[in-house]
Amino acid sequence: MAEQLTPEQAAALQEKLKQMSPEQIQELVKKQCVFCRIVAGEIPSKKVYEDDNFLAFLDINPANIGHVLVVTKDHFSVLPQLPNELAAKYFVLVKELSARIYDALGAQGINILQNNGPAAGQEVPHIHIHIIPRFEEDGVRFTWEPKKAEESEVDAVLNKIKAKAKDIDIKGVSVSKKKEVIEMTEEREQFDSKGAAPSPARRIP
Ligand SMILES: [Zn+2]
Repeated sequence: MAEQLTPEQAAALQEKLKQMSPEQIQELVKKQCVFCRIVAGEIPSKKVYEDDNFLAFLDINPANIGHVLVVTKDHFSVLPQLPNELAAKYFVLVKELSARIYDALGAQGINILQNNGPAAGQEVPHIHIHIIPRFEEDGVRFTWEPKKAEESEVDAVLNKIKAKAKDIDIKGVSVSKKKEVIEMTEEREQFDSKGAAPSPARRIP
């Protein structure tokens, strides 16, 4: 934790921050951020994957052994700040990694978790996605008491979200894996007819 500043020191810091450029502030944030420091190699990590934009490494407080965190190399605090292109790549990477973690560990399930803001349980203010391998009876729980509300209250919330969602435009984000979509549909039919869960680890040739 940061040391307590006297009011004079706090005022001086405020003044200093006002004079800094956005780039300088970004540099300061990176120095304070544990994930930026992991990306920079200043803090060691058990890396499982790395490319120009992302780093994946083992969580040091895992829900299960093999729990992986995937972070952006650039510092973004929360999901809505991500440029769409990067968000699209991010999700494909998480999908690919989750299939491989499932395979490698002989897992029986996978949770993908992504927390935004302290109220949502985000502990490090640098965007990260949890990939958690799951096993029957592993004792990991994500539970909540279902909230009750009048239908009118639910509809009011529905309408608020729908009004905001109207201007979403993701046409610019291209998806060209038609073959995979077709094969997934076949797999879905198998699932429906046999009642057996399709393997998320199935590789498309
Ligand atoms: Zn950071």
